[in-house]
Amino acid sequence: MPEYTIKLLETHEVAEGTMAFHMERPVGFDFKPGQSADLTMLDPPENDEAGNIRTFSIASAPSESSLMFATRLRDTAFKRSLRTLPASALFKMEGPSGGFNLHKNPTKPGVFLAGGIGITPFMSMIGEAGHVKDPHQLYLFYSNRRPEDAAFLQELAAMPQRNPNFHLIATMAEMEKSKQNWEGERGFINAAMLQRHLPSLSGPIFYVAGPPGMVAAMRDMLTKAGVDEDDIRSEDFPGY
Ligand SMILES: Cc1cc2nc3c(=O)[nH]c(=O)nc-3n(C[C@H](O)[C@H](O)[C@H](O)COP(=O)(O)OP(=O)(O)OC[C@H]3O[C@@H](n4cnc5c(N)ncnc54)[C@H](O)[C@@H]3O)c2cc1C
Repeated sequence: MPEYTIKLLETHEVAEGTMAFHMERPVGFDFKPGQSADLTMLDPPENDEAGNIRTFSIASAPSESSLMFATRLRDTAFKRSLRTLPASALFKMEGPSGGFNLHKNPTKPGVFLAGGIGITPFMSMIGEAGHVKDPHQLYLFYSNRRPEDAAFLQELAAMPQRNPNFHLIATMAEMEKSKQNWEGERGFINAAMLQRHLPSLSGPIFYVAGPPGMVAAMRDMLTKAGVDEDDIRSEDFPGY
């Protein structure tokens, strides 16, 4: 896998406890939307047994000039360091890697099921689809506890104006803990919710990304709803 040394450009909060970090994009670094990279924090302020290397999906689109990644801040040395790193801090990047990419046939819709931080590979796919005016019908079912925890929610809500082929179905599972109003779907993504918003469950290619438990539950739900295993692709985010 190609290796690069890249600089941190800036970081900002994209939801409660979730941070996006922008990195410089090496010359000649090409990737497909949905791919990931291994980032090693060079000279970390602190370290622990979990080490200073993490795999992250590239959340920015290939048409963008810098690279964006996003992560939930947790009590590990890597994540604590990430929170306070100054701009120009150095990382080793190995990549791109992974085959979690949108299928070619535009007559088959793409249905994305994202659990929390699992939104990152889809941000790249959706961003690029809007940029290249991709003909695929894209449906994003985006599951979070509360709107406060949902990274990029406003950006995604505005995306249909830019790409009429894109459809957002956001759902919240713990609105009783939220300070915000919510008119949208509630609860975990399930077959009934899919049937409410999709023309049909047979035909689309389904993509699932998020914590391993969420991915396993979604695969199980889809196969029980009659979706062919061959039409399901998934990306686990270990550690969550
Ligand atoms: C393909 C893929 C894409 C991912 N995309 C994202 C993303 O966009 N955002 C996000 O927050 N998380 C992503 N993850 C998960 C991420 O790598 C971390 O596991 C997660 O962020 C939890 O890290 P932590 O420090 O909070 O927790 P911890 O549980 O302390 O750390 C996770 C554990 O995973 C190990 N680990 C993670 N990556 C590597 C690696 N490349 N090589 C060796 N060990 C590793 C660490 O050493 C550690 O033991 C992705 C994982 C994969 C496999």
